[in-house]
Amino acid sequence: MRVLITGGAGFLGSHLCDYFLNKGHQVIAMDNLITGSTRNIEHLAGNDNFHFIKQDVTEYIYVSGPIDAVLHFASPASPIDFDKFPIKILKVGALGTHKALGLCREKGARFLLASTSEVYGDPLVHPQREDYWGNVNPIGGRSCYDEAKRFAEAMTMAYHRQHGLETRIVRIFNTYGPRMRLEDGRVVPNFVGQALRGEPLTVYGEGSQTRSFCYYSDLVEGIYRLLMSDERLPVNIGNPTEITILEFAQRINEMTGNQAGIIHEPLPPNDPKLRQPDITKARRVLNWEPKVGLEEGLRQTIAYFQQRMNEAK
Ligand code: UDP
Repeated sequence: MRVLITGGAGFLGSHLCDYFLNKGHQVIAMDNLITGSTRNIEHLAGNDNFHFIKQDVTEYIYVSGPIDAVLHFASPASPIDFDKFPIKILKVGALGTHKALGLCREKGARFLLASTSEVYGDPLVHPQREDYWGNVNPIGGRSCYDEAKRFAEAMTMAYHRQHGLETRIVRIFNTYGPRMRLEDGRVVPNFVGQALRGEPLTVYGEGSQTRSFCYYSDLVEGIYRLLMSDERLPVNIGNPTEITILEFAQRINEMTGNQAGIIHEPLPPNDPKLRQPDITKARRVLNWEPKVGLEEGLRQTIAYFQQRMNEAK
């Protein structure tokens, strides 16, 4: 296959580039580098099966030659980005999705949308199944991301229904691992960075809110299986092992030997109180489930951030 990955220089996009190249496919990565980094793909320079185009996917997308699949992963995704780039996030979810779907139609390619557990908002159903419609504040600080992704899902289904396009939608739950940005603002880089600097970990609120963390390699495997499957409706991909943020902080302090403890900071508005994927559907239709436990995934992630911090010294 010849695949286009938008957001190909980002955390997940770049891991997808590696995965597809390792399977023998050709990959074109497109990224405007506002949150992505060429550092994530520099090891692919000189690979004849890989091509990078620096471009904003909200503009017209032109790619010469055949394309078999487009994976639309472009979007800032950290809550701190929601304050910094709300309009860009809305544009890439709305206009970027439209452009990517248009390209698929032109090329006869299959489309896979990177959607998110954020479509469930601050969920009133727990764990979250794909048939839950969500509880989203349409004008809150997270709405730029949540509503853009909800629009993107609607646009994807419209192209499927009106034009018969082959489409796939993955709802990605919290995912972590090497190549996250240290300054990303999300909980894993924040806590690991703080722990490695010997600083107290900043737990927002009491830390009773939960998340369920999936290691990137499991996620990428699930996405590949979804692309190759016949499933047209959204599929949750994530790790169902749920943990409170307070316990998560304690775990990271233990693993890094950080003695500085924990401090509490205000909980940001609309921060979801509970989040856990129901992955019954992924198990059934993709024969997929995560393999990497939190301990192992965190060990690899801590080692990556340690290396990055040593390089920066
Ligand atoms: N969080 C925290 N301290 C931090 C960063 C995040 O306690 O330094 C909390 C945040 O309030 C949320 C959870 O960790 O409840 C996960 O936050 P993240 O930004 O990773 O993404 P989210 O899952 O909220 O989209």
